[in-house]
Amino acid sequence: MIIGENVSFKKDTGLLGAIKEALSYNSNTFMFYTGAPQNTNRSPIDLENTKLAHKMLEENNIDINNLVVHAPYIINLANPKNFDFNVSFLKQEIKRCEELGIKRLVLHPGSHVGLGTIEGINNIAAALNKVLDSNTNLYICLETMAGKGSEVGSSFEELKTIIDKVELKDKIKICMDTCHMNDAGYDLSNFDKVLEEFDNIIGINNLYVVHINDSKNLIGTHKDRHENIGYGTIGFDNLINIIYHKKLDGIPKILETPYVSFDKNSYPPYKFEIEEIEAKKLNENLIEDIINFYK
Ligand code: FE
Ligand code: FE
Ligand code: ZN
Repeated sequence: MIIGENVSFKKDTGLLGAIKEALSYNSNTFMFYTGAPQNTNRSPIDLENTKLAHKMLEENNIDINNLVVHAPYIINLANPKNFDFNVSFLKQEIKRCEELGIKRLVLHPGSHVGLGTIEGINNIAAALNKVLDSNTNLYICLETMAGKGSEVGSSFEELKTIIDKVELKDKIKICMDTCHMNDAGYDLSNFDKVLEEFDNIIGINNLYVVHINDSKNLIGTHKDRHENIGYGTIGFDNLINIIYHKKLDGIPKILETPYVSFDKNSYPPYKFEIEEIEAKKLNENLIEDIINFYK
């Protein structure tokens, strides 16, 4: 099983710091934003740090091909406003990933902001066609969205329509997010059926990342609020079934569950969630265990 979580990538500690954080949770992959998720300020990649980091990955048997970068979520390719900025930012993000050796870049398709789904899809595809070229050495993984507001990409059909309009289709893959799929209306208690639908529309060989999150909201509510594993409406058994599904073997699974707040601090849940996933047994004291460990 390849499982990890969202870790931080800081200006001074770079990829080395991200690996150390991931190892502290006993994970064998991880995801990060190359800067703050909510803005587009980015520092150049420290090549010396990255060299040491690659050595550390090898020493710890972490396959660099399983690492994931998440593009900042304020980039909205569905909106033609800021088109040139978005395109040049994404090109630079791809360059940063290539310098880091990262092969999987997760991207939210975007929100059509009232223009309608069709126009949104056309804008996304036009931007991707500007961003990608035959030398692009990674996969852009479009994330399945909850359908909050005017988000595009909350159904497999919409994602497929985007892919169909991209010239270099083989560079576009998919990131499933379990919270988003639940909130979009997919019934994850029948994951075989969901997967069959995905396979018919997009093809399971195009699934490159899975975000594992429970959801605070009921199926079909289009909310997008993540919950700790086993504490939401999807539930522990359904998430375990997805994590250990034979057809998802070898695909990196990334936790993006919320930090636990206590006494004005907040603590990462990942070490303990990975433990309950490996034990395939719900930890009924998850929150207490996290607080006691970190406080
Ligand atoms: Fe995301
Ligand atoms: Fe996600
Ligand atoms: Zn989300």
